[in-house]
Amino acid sequence: MRPPAAAPRGGLMSRRKKIYEGKAKILYEGPEPGTIIQYFKDDATAFNAQKKAILEGKGVINNQISGFIMQNLNAIGVPTHYIKTMNMREQLVREVEIIPLEVVCRNVAAGSLSTRLGIEEGTPLPRSIIEFYYKKDELGDPMVAEEHITAFNWASTQEIDDLMALTLRVNDYLFGMFGAVGIKLVDFKLEFGRLYEGDMVRTVIADEISPDSARLWDVQTNEKMDKDRFRRDLGNVTEAYVEVARRLGIVKQAGISEVAG
Ligand code: ADP
Ligand code: MG
Repeated sequence: MRPPAAAPRGGLMSRRKKIYEGKAKILYEGPEPGTIIQYFKDDATAFNAQKKAILEGKGVINNQISGFIMQNLNAIGVPTHYIKTMNMREQLVREVEIIPLEVVCRNVAAGSLSTRLGIEEGTPLPRSIIEFYYKKDELGDPMVAEEHITAFNWASTQEIDDLMALTLRVNDYLFGMFGAVGIKLVDFKLEFGRLYEGDMVRTVIADEISPDSARLWDVQTNEKMDKDRFRRDLGNVTEAYVEVARRLGIVKQAGISEVAG
C-alpha cells in the first residue's frame, strides 16, 4: 500500500485561495467560511491609478493603523468587518457584500471639494459634510446623489441612513482620537458592506481606515501626514504614516525599521 499523496503543505500563502487583488490589498479566503484575509501591499496609487509607486513598509503600517482603529470602533459599538490582526501585513475580517459607494466625510476643505467649489484648502467647514461617490474605477469614482443611489439600487434609503449615521459616529470618534495626539482629521473615506447573519443583514464598516484613506494634518504646522504626500510628491510618505502610528501609540519608535517587513 502506498501512502496517499502528501497534501501540499507549504506556508499558509501557498494553501490559500486568492479572491481578489486590488490596488493596495489582496484578499485571500479565510480559515472559516464567511471570513477573508486582507493582505496589505506596499503599492501606492493615486489619480485613479495613473500614478503608481511602491512605498516600502506602507502595507505594514496601514495594517497596524487600520486594525487599531477598527478594533476601537468595534469596542465602542460601531460595527466593522475587523476580527483580528494575524501578522505584520494581514488581518482577518468578515466577508461582506461591498456596497458600491465611497462615503466621504469632510471637516475641513481640501482636495476635490476645494477644487470643485473654489474653497481654499484648510478652510474649516461650517459643519461636517458627507458625500457619496460611486465606486467604479473605470469611471473614476464619480460623485453621486442619494437619488442615483436609490434609483440604481446601489443601496436602500434605510442603508443610506445607516451609512450616514455610522459615518458621523466614526467622524466624532476619530476627530477626538486624532485631536488628542495633535492631528487634525481633515476628511476620510469609508467603505461599507452587508453582513449576512442568518436571515439578518447588518451594515458594517469594511475595507480600511488609514492615512491612505484619510487626510491628517499636524495641528501645529498643518504638515500633511497622509497620502497627499504621495499625490503631491512631498516625500517621506511612509515616515509620515509611521509618525501617525507612533502618536497613536501603535508603534514605539519613529524608525521605519521597526515596521518594515
Ligand atoms: P481597490 O483597488 O478595489 O480599492 P483594494 O486594494 O483596496 O482594492 O482591496 C480591497 C478590496 O476589497 C476593495 O475592493 C474593497 O471594496 C474590498 N473589501 C474590503 N473589505 C472587504 C470585506 N470585508 N469583504 C469583501 N470585500 C472587501
Ligand atoms: Mg481600495
